[in-house]
Amino acid sequence: MATRIVDVLVPVALDQTYSYRVPEGLDLAPGDVVAVPLGARGETMGVVWADNAEPNPRFHNRMKDVIGKHDVPPLKAELRQFVDWVAGYTLASRGMVLRMALRMGDDLGPGRERVGVRLAGPAPARMTPARARVLHVFADRLTRSKNEAAQEAGVSVGVIDGLIDEGTLETVVLPPEPVALPPDPDFRTPEFALMQMAAGDALRTTVNQGGYTVTLLDGVTGSGKTEVYFEAVAENIRLKRQTLILMPEIALTGQSLDRFTERFGVRPAEWHSQLSPRKRARTWAAVAANEVPVVVGARSALFLPYADLGLIIVDEEHDPAYKQEDGAHYHARDMAVVRGSIAKIPVLLASATPSVESEVNARRGRYKRLHLPERFGGAHMPSIEAIDMRREAPPRGRFISPKLAEAVQIALERKEQALLFLNRRGYAPLTLCRACGFRLQCPNCDSWLVDHRFKRRLVCHHCGFNMPPPAQCPNCHATESFAAVGPGVERLEQEAAELFPDSRILVLSSDLVESIERLRMELDDVAQGRFDIIVGTQLVAKGHHFPKLNLVGIVDADLGLGNGDPRAGERTFQLLHQVVGRAGREEGRGVGLLQTHQPEHPVMKALISGDREAFYSSEIALREASSYPPFGRLASMVITANERHAAESYGRALASAAPKDEQVRVLGPAEAPVAVVRGRHRFRLLVKAPRAYDLSGYLRDWLAAAPKVRGNVKLEVDVDPQSFF
Ligand code: ADP
Ligand code: ZN
Repeated sequence: MATRIVDVLVPVALDQTYSYRVPEGLDLAPGDVVAVPLGARGETMGVVWADNAEPNPRFHNRMKDVIGKHDVPPLKAELRQFVDWVAGYTLASRGMVLRMALRMGDDLGPGRERVGVRLAGPAPARMTPARARVLHVFADRLTRSKNEAAQEAGVSVGVIDGLIDEGTLETVVLPPEPVALPPDPDFRTPEFALMQMAAGDALRTTVNQGGYTVTLLDGVTGSGKTEVYFEAVAENIRLKRQTLILMPEIALTGQSLDRFTERFGVRPAEWHSQLSPRKRARTWAAVAANEVPVVVGARSALFLPYADLGLIIVDEEHDPAYKQEDGAHYHARDMAVVRGSIAKIPVLLASATPSVESEVNARRGRYKRLHLPERFGGAHMPSIEAIDMRREAPPRGRFISPKLAEAVQIALERKEQALLFLNRRGYAPLTLCRACGFRLQCPNCDSWLVDHRFKRRLVCHHCGFNMPPPAQCPNCHATESFAAVGPGVERLEQEAAELFPDSRILVLSSDLVESIERLRMELDDVAQGRFDIIVGTQLVAKGHHFPKLNLVGIVDADLGLGNGDPRAGERTFQLLHQVVGRAGREEGRGVGLLQTHQPEHPVMKALISGDREAFYSSEIALREASSYPPFGRLASMVITANERHAAESYGRALASAAPKDEQVRVLGPAEAPVAVVRGRHRFRLLVKAPRAYDLSGYLRDWLAAAPKVRGNVKLEVDVDPQSFF
């Protein structure tokens, strides 16, 4: 019999598969997770990608054998096709994409045994008070772990061990704790308002009919989108199929999980970057074994090996955090739609401020739209006003205008909360020497050092470089000459504390968050009313429900507008709308105050008038006129090198190797807006093509013909780029 050969994809930065011989007696099929030898790496995990029917016999002798098969369910064709698709589209190597699907770690062996103790035989010969307490605990004849038993009886584990030796207690092996318990679709069904009911019905029908569809659940903040999309989840649970709910990582906080628990009676399985390796491995295996009905996860949960995925929900679908910017550059919302179409299942996108891409798809009828135009319980949308900083500016060196301060004062008198929003971490974005004008700059990057006073460090937000504040100016050696320029949240907190000395203030900013658990506690404290003023970055914008919050002050509404990003207007609108939407969710008399120097700007006008449609229409017209996404396609190529010259000359060589095509425009190379990061010089090329054009194919041909990168030069390709720095 001829030797059987299989092609195996390994999770390293390579596009091609490797061929291996299948040893006698090993039964392999595509999708099987195997161990294979791989050059100097030795034994590596890989996945059988295909049977190789016509291997070249010349290589047979040099081919190595598959070492063995891992005892996990095979990756389904659906997932393998998805890996191929994502790699093909993003130009990431297939191995890199596969790696995301194999993120269960190496911890695949059988789980650590859990041992329990239970009552077995006669009372011990020698009775002590401690032993009596243990016997009392076990009188219920239940099995518990040694530690639990010791704790319950208030004795040391030694006492339990003694009773085991005497034969009074015995040990038993317990089954592993399940990753997730079965949710009950009818555990607590809410009473829906009319619009909610209609949307819920539509979603149930969509799930029931199955097949690939995309629905945009478009509802104002506080309209109850979560409750409504839970109806789709419930229906999918009834159908006994798996559901994936994607969330931006930082939104994976207690509140959303608690709400799931209230609705379905159990917690969902979670998937995010902070899972322990053990939990990761067990969750991965349980998802593959169809033991997890619902996963709530960050974007990487898209690559889990679902046994029977029936529904994908993308919450806050417009969130920029869905774009992964390192390794494989993919957008999780877009890839969720792709995964849905491969698996032939419904996809649901939820947002109060849809991405322009999704809005256009809904307007053109490619996505179905379900609209929730009102807040639940009759609460009104917050009323929004501009504070014109050209006329009502705060005193010098201050950032809270008198009008905003007055509004905060009133909120405090009413025993309500106020949120001061500033999307900037640290104390001040720039520190300069008053004596000579010298600015403290990162030694590795083209950026200023940000003063983080809580940590007593100056920090680079691009590379993480940090140092203690210097005692004297490195340039003129003056002492005590540094001045902080501009505000960050820490400085704002100082100002708020001076203005409102009796208030309890909390700063929420990602650099101050030690862990998701800790953040969950702090958000909970806010929801419980343990703080009066919250000073926060975009960390507070997402999905949290603070019943006592009625005032939101945007300290610098113009902050995100002037950065040359084609999505700057959209992003600012979404972020500010979301933040202001935190106000008045319970009582319905929320107020948003926008401190701005340009109250005439279309973004400010749309926010103030509450005319979302006007904003989308003007933004869509703008994109259409300039052929920006979704009316045209973009890719960016970033070249980095240790020397400026090397980066630039490779950029030139790359540009001149671009295949000629009338439909494609190649712009650059130009020095990137942030020209140096981590000591590496950066140049960019921007590629523009029509909407229906196969840009990935064009890029692939280009790269195949382009000169190879050499030395320390690196090239990163980003299809559908979201960041332009
Ligand atoms: P959104 O996500 O649209 O901003 P949420 O889903 O967070 O809105 O809902 C806002 C608040 O209203 C939440 O506290 C939610 O529990 C509550 N809510 C929404 N719909 C209902 C309902 N039908 N019955 C009871 N409470 C509801
Ligand atoms: Zn730096």
